[in-house]
Amino acid sequence: MKTFQEFGLHEHIIKAIDELGFEKPTPIQEKTLPFLLNSSQDVVALAQTGTGKTAAFGLPMIHKIEWKNKSVQGIVLCPTRELCMQITNDLDYFSKYVEGVFVVPVYGGTSIDKQITALKRGGQIVVGTPGRVLDLIKRKKLLLNKIKYLVLDEADEMLNMGFKEDLDSILSKTPDGRQSMLFSATMPKGIANIAKKYMQNAEEISAGKKNIGAENVQHHYYAVQASNRYLALKRIADYYPNIYGIVFCRTRRETKEVSEKLMADGYNADALHGDLSQAQRDHVMNRFRKKNLQILVATDVAARGLDVNDLSHIINYNIPDELEAYIHRSGRTGRAGKHGISITIIHGRETNKIAQLEKIVGKGFERKEVPGGKEICEKQLFTLIDKVEWVEVNESTIEEYLDIIYKKLAWLSREELIKRFVSVEFNRFLSYYKDAPDLNIKTQKRGEQREGRRDRGGRGQSNFTRFHINLGSKNKVSAIDLISLINKHTGNNSIEIGKIEILKTFSFFEIEKSFEKQLKEAFKDVHRDGIKVKIEVSKNKEKPDLSKRFKKKKSRSGKRRFR
Ligand code: ADP
Ligand code: MG
Repeated sequence: MKTFQEFGLHEHIIKAIDELGFEKPTPIQEKTLPFLLNSSQDVVALAQTGTGKTAAFGLPMIHKIEWKNKSVQGIVLCPTRELCMQITNDLDYFSKYVEGVFVVPVYGGTSIDKQITALKRGGQIVVGTPGRVLDLIKRKKLLLNKIKYLVLDEADEMLNMGFKEDLDSILSKTPDGRQSMLFSATMPKGIANIAKKYMQNAEEISAGKKNIGAENVQHHYYAVQASNRYLALKRIADYYPNIYGIVFCRTRRETKEVSEKLMADGYNADALHGDLSQAQRDHVMNRFRKKNLQILVATDVAARGLDVNDLSHIINYNIPDELEAYIHRSGRTGRAGKHGISITIIHGRETNKIAQLEKIVGKGFERKEVPGGKEICEKQLFTLIDKVEWVEVNESTIEEYLDIIYKKLAWLSREELIKRFVSVEFNRFLSYYKDAPDLNIKTQKRGEQREGRRDRGGRGQSNFTRFHINLGSKNKVSAIDLISLINKHTGNNSIEIGKIEILKTFSFFEIEKSFEKQLKEAFKDVHRDGIKVKIEVSKNKEKPDLSKRFKKKKSRSGKRRFR
C-alpha cells in the first residue's frame, strides 16, 4: 500500500494530515488520490459512510488549486448545513500549513451578509448547500465561471432533498472544462442520471463492495403490528438501558410524534428534523454529541453528516422507502472498530423486504422477539445494580452529609435498605410492565431458526458459547458478580451474556460466540479472593443433573447487556 507521501501530495499537506493522525490512506483514498492528482477526468466515487471521502476529494483539490490566486477555483456542494461546516472544517485542517488558502462555507438558515463579506475577502474553495449557493449566484456575489473543480458530496441525498433543480441551475453556471467529482455511499438511479447528464466519461471508482454494510454491525429485526410500533420501540429502548443511538423516522411529522412521545414517557430523547431553527438544531446536536442525549429521533436528511462515532444502536422505526438508505443508517453504528446493532421494526407483511435488505447489505438479519416485561425488568434491575456496584464514590464531597444520612437510615436493616433503593428506581418499570402483553406477531418463516428467548439456552443452534468457571456459590459468587467480573476483565460491557447457572463449586454462563476469544484472553490471569479464576468452554451443552433447586433459584435465561 502506498503512503500519502508516495502519492506526491505537497509536504505542507502531508504535515497537516500527519498531525491529524492519518497514518495510511483509506481504501477509497488509495484509489482516488493517485487518480485525481494525475488526471482531470470526471470521477464518480462510491464508498460507505465513514470511509474518508472528504479527504479523498479534499486533499487533491487543495494540492491542485493555485494557492496564490484568490478567486474561487473549487466548489463543493453538499446537502446540509452541518455537512457544510464539517467539510469546511476538514478542508481547513488539511490546508493548515498551506499559506493563503481559504475555504468559505455558505449555507442557508443564517445571515447571508456575513457570507458575502467572507466571499469578498476571497477563498479558493467554497463549500455550500445548493439553495444558498444559488442565491449567492443570483445576487452576483459568487461567480462560478472560472471554477476548475466541482464536487457533489452526498449527491444521492441532495436529490432526495429535492435539490435537483437547484443543482441544474448551478451546474449550468459552471464552465465546461471543469473536473466534476461525485461522491456517494450508494448508487441509486438518480445518481447514475446525474453522472450521465453533468459528467463526461466519468471514471467510476469504488472501494469495497458498493453497498455493503459495515463489518461490525449486527442486523436485528422485530415484527409487530403496525399499531404497536411505538410500544415495541419503548421496549427495545428499555431493554438496552445504556443505548446511545438514532431512531430513524420517515417524515418530519413522524419524527416529531415519536420524539415527543418518548420525551413524555421519560426517555432521554430529542428530535432532529428540518422544521427546527438552526439554533435548535445546533443545540440538539451538541447535546447528542456530548452524550447528554441518549436517543436522537431524526429523519435521514437531518442525520446526514452528523459525525458521531460510537453509536451503540440504530433503530429503523420503519423500513426506509428507499432501501438504499438503510446502508447510510446502519453505517452510523459499528464505526471505528466498535460493535453496533442496527434494529428494524417491521410489520407482518414486510418480511420480504428484510430479504431484500439482506441482499443489499450482504449479511443475514436476525429475527428477535420483542422483549417481554419480565426480561426488561430483569435487565433494568441488573443494570442498576451493576451501576451501583461500580459507581465512583466521591468521598470528600459526600462526607459532610454521611453522618446525618447514616443516622436517618439507621433503623433500616441492610436488606430493607437494598429493597428500598431498588424500588426507588424500579417501581416505574414494575408497574408499567405488569401484565404487559406479548407484542410479537407470527410471520412467515424465513428459513432461519427463530430465536425464541424462552427456549434458547443450549438447545439447537445458538449464538452463544457456554463457559465453565471454577467459582460457585461456595465462593460467594452470584450471577451479578459473574457479569461484573466479565465486564471488568474484558473492559467491554456490551457483550451479550446469556444464561447463567451458579452451582456450588463452579458455574456456567453463556456469552456471545464472537467474544469467545476475547473472553479467554481476558481471563488468562484473573484472581478472585486468592483463587486463580479458570474458565473453559463447556463441552456438554446442558447438564441433565443440575440441582433443580439451584436452577430455579439462580439461573436466568434471556440475554442481557450489562454495564
Ligand atoms: P465519509 O465522507 O466517507 O462519510 P469522512 O470523510 O467524514 O467520511 O471521514 C470519516 C472520519 O474518518 C473522519 O473523522 C476523518 O477525519 C477520518 N479519516 C479520514 N481519512 C482518514 C485516514 N486516512 N486515516 C484516519 N482517519 C481518517
Ligand atoms: Mg462525507
